[in-house]
Amino acid sequence: MQALIDKAKVLIEALPYMRRFFDKTIVVKYGGAAQKDAALRASFAKDVVLMKHIGVRPVIVHGGGPQIGATLERLGKQSTFVDGLRVTDDETMEVVEMVLGGKVNHEIVELVQKAGGRAIGLTGSDGGMIRTRRRTKDGRDIGRVGAVVGVDPAAIVAVADAGFVPVIAPIGIGDDGLTYNVNADEAAGAIAQALHAEKLILLTDVAGVLDGEGQLVPQLTQERARMLVDQGVVKGGMIPKIQCCTDAVSGGVARAHVIDGRVEHAVLLEIFTDGGVGTLITR
Ligand code: ADP
Ligand code: MG
Repeated sequence: MQALIDKAKVLIEALPYMRRFFDKTIVVKYGGAAQKDAALRASFAKDVVLMKHIGVRPVIVHGGGPQIGATLERLGKQSTFVDGLRVTDDETMEVVEMVLGGKVNHEIVELVQKAGGRAIGLTGSDGGMIRTRRRTKDGRDIGRVGAVVGVDPAAIVAVADAGFVPVIAPIGIGDDGLTYNVNADEAAGAIAQALHAEKLILLTDVAGVLDGEGQLVPQLTQERARMLVDQGVVKGGMIPKIQCCTDAVSGGVARAHVIDGRVEHAVLLEIFTDGGVGTLITR
């Protein structure tokens, strides 16, 4: 009997969070271990479906760099890199669209549906959603790599209003009518701003933002976040995350989180507990 009562208590503890997030939009950048490991994939999908069923409006934005790399390799397509950025020629972009907008996107749609939800896959070029400009690296052309200049959220809102979970591939559309590959963190941040989301959650493969000693920083202001980047403590793939989180909170998103996607049910823990599992970035 006590076990049952404890179960009821756990549900009641979630009640204030359910109230707070009812009808609110939560944008989740899905990637890393949570996308690779079968158990983590299933637990992520269940979290999304649970959110949806209690009236939260989840929006998923996904990456897919490793899958693109693997397909290019299988096709025997050599890539050149400029400072770690893949030069995306037209042929490479064709593969990006096939893999990111086709295969990976649909795998996530199917994952959510297997967990009992209903999802619709979109790319950022659908409905003119993610508007981009061509990005260069130190003045050098790197091909179809885009920076986000704006987001028209109409397609996402239509899909969410109709009761589906939108699953978005980070492909943007330029003024030149061409599609561009966009960093998934950057896309998720811009989408969160355009939707006036309550939360932006970036799943990653580390505990969160780590300090110079490798310890988790549970909470960061924009100012301290910028300091960590300037000091070189935050490097590599964590830089676009920090950037998009600080932009998001400046742009009206209440809270932005970098969380440990290696933990089962990381998203639910973030939403329904006080502590959460990672770094919270606030204004
Ligand atoms: P993702 O697939 O989540 O986008 P990335 O490799 O692009 O992964 O970015 C996360 C990586 O950023 C971490 O695995 C880590 O190696 C690196 N990183 C650099 N500086 C930090 C830091 N201060 N705290 C946490 N991670 C950091
Ligand atoms: Mg990354």
